[in-house]
Amino acid sequence: MRGIAAVPSYVVMQPTTLCNLDCVYCYLPLRAADRRMPLGVAEAVAASVNPWAASGRFSVVWHGGEPLAAGREHLAALLAPFGPAVEHHVQTNATLIDDAWCAFFVEHGIRVSVSVDGPRARNGERVTRGGRPAYDRILAGVAALRRHGLPFSALAVVSRPERGLATELYDYFLDLGCDVLGINIEETEGVNTRTNARDAAAVTGFWAELVGAWRRDPRIHLREIEWSLRYAGAVLAGTADDLLPRRLDPIPTVSHDGSVVVLSPELAGFTDPRYGDFSSGNVLTTPLAEILAGAGRTPWVGEFLTGVEACRSSCPYFGFCGGGHAANRYFELGRFDGTETEHCRNSKIRLLEGVLEHARDHESPAA
Ligand code: SF4
Repeated sequence: MRGIAAVPSYVVMQPTTLCNLDCVYCYLPLRAADRRMPLGVAEAVAASVNPWAASGRFSVVWHGGEPLAAGREHLAALLAPFGPAVEHHVQTNATLIDDAWCAFFVEHGIRVSVSVDGPRARNGERVTRGGRPAYDRILAGVAALRRHGLPFSALAVVSRPERGLATELYDYFLDLGCDVLGINIEETEGVNTRTNARDAAAVTGFWAELVGAWRRDPRIHLREIEWSLRYAGAVLAGTADDLLPRRLDPIPTVSHDGSVVVLSPELAGFTDPRYGDFSSGNVLTTPLAEILAGAGRTPWVGEFLTGVEACRSSCPYFGFCGGGHAANRYFELGRFDGTETEHCRNSKIRLLEGVLEHARDHESPAA
């Protein structure tokens, strides 16, 4: 895997910067402001995306802020330029989902992913602008999805991974009814400056326990665990080199104003004296396909690719990780050409160690 691909597998779109919640660990800098994406931005993105979708599976992920805070009318207008082959996803806090939103999801073929951190006691940091717990409103949104028979994914932030928590979380999500689950260990990024340095044994133990919980009842596609097991299987089969894509997926994030940040949505909305606003161009003046073709020339991206090569030559986990995320390097190390971060220790290295710990503890030796 070297360099950046010219065609992404999906695009992240920000219909509004606004979020109606104010979660303590949120990284978004403009979440109190309602800056809506003009229709011209969606039209410009669709001009590049529609041909990509015609030649293979392609997704647009509507992310915020809280994308539903843009309102159904505005979101429908933003969706309109995209052709029928484009798959749409929305990442939402679920608090605004009601029967009308469910009908909207059905009408537009939108797949929903809900942000919820587990049972009520684990959602203490998901709060409204007035500081009140959002949990009951999240569950009301999930209940509406279930009432309408809409399948949904869930995304949970875990701030304090430790033994004992993983089983509780997995059982909760089985009851919640999601069919896909992603687990994000809290990250130090954006406006969230809380440390994510964690005790190594506790994090490894969390992941090991999660493997066990999933194996007992693997009804949910558990993103991190399934990827780890696929990697472990490929190592045993001698095919691990084929797992990573040949080039990095640029994962363009198109901000509300049309500016494009590649590789890390979390960099959108920030500026730095050395790197400027991190953008590689604006779709209102340059086609998205052209922006991505030249993304490797964006100064910080070149520095990041140097960091990826440093990872390749120094880290035994590179084949699993592929070199980590740009935003974690920037927000933890202040630059892009470093290697290890607390994020990669928590979410890559200790994840793989947890899978191996589970295997050591549960597999009987070959006869
Ligand atoms: S685990 Fe960390 S150091 Fe290793 S390749 Fe990934 S980002 Fe680089």
